[in-house]
Amino acid sequence: MPSIPFIDISSQFNQLENSIRSRIDKVLKHGQFIMGPEVFELEKALTNFCDTDYAIACSSGTDALLMALMAYDVGPGDIVFTTPFSFVATAEVIGLLGAIPVFVDIDPVTFNMDVQLLKQAIMAVEEQEDSLYPLPLQVVEGQQPLRKRGLVVADLFGLPADYEGLRNIAEEYGLFLIEDAAQSFGGELNGKKACSLGDIGCTSFFPAKPLGAYGDAGAVLTSDERLSKELQSIRIHGQGENKYSNRRLGLNARCDTMQAAVLLSKLEIFLQELERRQEIANIYKAYLESLTPEIRVPEVPTGYRSAWAQYSVLIQHRELVQQALSEQDIPTSIYYEIPLHLQQAFAYLGYVPGDMPVSERTSRQILSLPMNPYLEKVQIEDICQVIHKALV
Ligand SMILES: *Cc1c(COP(=O)(O)O)cnc(C)c1O
Repeated sequence: MPSIPFIDISSQFNQLENSIRSRIDKVLKHGQFIMGPEVFELEKALTNFCDTDYAIACSSGTDALLMALMAYDVGPGDIVFTTPFSFVATAEVIGLLGAIPVFVDIDPVTFNMDVQLLKQAIMAVEEQEDSLYPLPLQVVEGQQPLRKRGLVVADLFGLPADYEGLRNIAEEYGLFLIEDAAQSFGGELNGKKACSLGDIGCTSFFPAKPLGAYGDAGAVLTSDERLSKELQSIRIHGQGENKYSNRRLGLNARCDTMQAAVLLSKLEIFLQELERRQEIANIYKAYLESLTPEIRVPEVPTGYRSAWAQYSVLIQHRELVQQALSEQDIPTSIYYEIPLHLQQAFAYLGYVPGDMPVSERTSRQILSLPMNPYLEKVQIEDICQVIHKALV
């Protein structure tokens, strides 16, 4: 069996080679490597795609999240609710700014923040009472008044979170709603695109994401004019009226012109790629559904579209299946082995095992199978056959 790539950047390059080479060539000739015309062209394309008023291209998904929190002036004394089942960046940026991440466990089916538990966590914070919901010790023992500021919610594996439920709670408590759409660019909820579902949407163009650059890049999207101005300033050292006036502290978080050029090429075929990802998810489902309850395939609730960044199944006997696949040179990944509340980096918050039971159970059973738009049906059949054999 020829080896199956987990993601397949070279097949995509074969298809786009002419377009990518000519766009990069253009950049080499005009020489505007920083904030060149392709950056603004990309921003226009992103606002069109996501139907937002503003897009601010930037250096990575992590910086996009950091910029979003900085636009709200998040800092010490602030509480930001987030998910424990995500890539570390989702919560890392909260801690970096000196604010306190409060983790809210996930829904066992969608792997996204559980809206009911968010309510419980907010109540617990208001009472400073961790018998209502597990809290960081800084919140329970907090002497100075802490402010509940907002939410950073991830759309895991490409599926948007429940933004209708989240929006209601955010409005009730006056919280901002930041969408971490690093994995869900191209996903949808009730006809609205990922990145437009919160007050600010942050996405990543890391090469392995659904829309990937040839290096680090990201974007922040919003339809709030004031925030867009803040984000533009933050991206370039808090720039003011001109290059040499600084009205606030900011970052160097610009998007390279080269990466913007690559992304413009990749956007040409992105919709077809999304469709192909959906077809591949359908094929996986057709072959694996019969293995329930040994395997649980991902479910996409009505009204949602996943960007299928990952095809992740739950398996009781994960080691068995992973071993069998690896013997056939079929790559798999585990996203995520350690939930964030149990990572050493967050030990200072004082969470203990058992605090986020759904995330902890999911981290023991989750397995991501190869997913890219260039997988052939026969390859998926082969993968599923190995899984069937391993489980009977
Ligand atoms: C990849 C990812 C990020 C970070 O994006 P980078 O571009 O690698 O900085 C943030 N959040 C989630 C959920 C991600 O998957």
